[in-house]
Amino acid sequence: MTNKMKGVTLLADWNPKPEFKLGPKDIDGVQTYLGSKVWKNPEIKIMEHDIPEPGPEEVMIEVKVCGICGSDVHMAQAYDDGYIYYPGLTGFPSILGHEFSGVVVKAGEGAINKRTNKPFAAGEVVTAEEMFWCGQCKPCADGYPNHCEQLDEIGFNIDGAFTKYIIVPSRVVWSLEPLKKVYSGKDLFLAGSLVEPTSVAYNAVVERGGGIRPGDNVVICGGGPIGVAACAIMKRQGAARVILSEPVPERAALGKKLGADYVINPLEENFTGRVLELTDGMGANLYLEATGLPTQVYPGIEKAIWEGRTLNSTVVVVARADAKMPVTGEVLQVRRAEIVGAQGHSGHGTFPRVIESMASGMDMTPMITKEITLDEIPEHLIDLRTNRTDCKITYVADK
Ligand SMILES: [Zn+2]
Ligand SMILES: [Zn+2]
Repeated sequence: MTNKMKGVTLLADWNPKPEFKLGPKDIDGVQTYLGSKVWKNPEIKIMEHDIPEPGPEEVMIEVKVCGICGSDVHMAQAYDDGYIYYPGLTGFPSILGHEFSGVVVKAGEGAINKRTNKPFAAGEVVTAEEMFWCGQCKPCADGYPNHCEQLDEIGFNIDGAFTKYIIVPSRVVWSLEPLKKVYSGKDLFLAGSLVEPTSVAYNAVVERGGGIRPGDNVVICGGGPIGVAACAIMKRQGAARVILSEPVPERAALGKKLGADYVINPLEENFTGRVLELTDGMGANLYLEATGLPTQVYPGIEKAIWEGRTLNSTVVVVARADAKMPVTGEVLQVRRAEIVGAQGHSGHGTFPRVIESMASGMDMTPMITKEITLDEIPEHLIDLRTNRTDCKITYVADK
């Protein structure tokens, strides 16, 4: 047996912009929380890596499936001046990939399986949170692991899952055994790889947005992976109407398949007019901004809140954007509306609830529109810069 494995690796040059200052959590030459201000000339290479060994509280997982995320695409993509698109925590070289599922190969003695409350055994089907929160800092101790001040992220600043084996601390590992009730073979792993992105949507609409009551109306702006996952969750929570605003026909169709009742094309239709028409003039209880284009999208949401008759609407901002939202305080005041931000997917039991939702019938697998091999990952990281018709392009180890 060889002690090497192939990994899809991102390399880039540490070359901070003049205005960049090393932050308290940055490590000179190694990692930064402001990726796009530091890393230049990204290059994707399939490289040989040593096969890692698990420590006492770690689990070694054989990766079976791993989806490509928009952030993978943006880490490997540069502006004209050479700096990468992705603005967040990054440390290169790193193996990319964080939306994965696999099988436990071995684990340290202190690596506890939350399903059994006993040490992990080989053969358990699992997934893991992408955010390795520390459990010791102030935000973690306060119950907000998504805002951990000592964060590591697989596939961002530490090695990810576009490879054969990955090492993960047991605290972020979740068993996928419940999914065996509804999936088998490859489908089990495909579904398991969607727990992470679905948990981002769940955290946004349920944990941060407060969820809805059966009979409420929901508007989802943006039919990317998070938007369509939110359609499924909101329909399952009992929405009277889930309205998806999305101009790309393939994405709109996928949103409908997953739970949207109506689709609006915001480039061809009057967004606010259609929302009010479809809700008998009421508007929505919950709006999700999942486009990353808040300057274009927010004015329509605000108008629907203002002109609709629903009080107490919540707007959840989940897409990242380096842009100011044009917010009118008067509208929030008069309509008792609020705007909340959502980041990440950990904590508050989000992963196990997403797994149990999937195990009881919430089928997310239509999100996977293409399956590829490891060698095909680099070309698809480039393809996804412009491809708006595929949802999840997913690496399958046994393809
Ligand atoms: Zn992701
Ligand atoms: Zn922490």
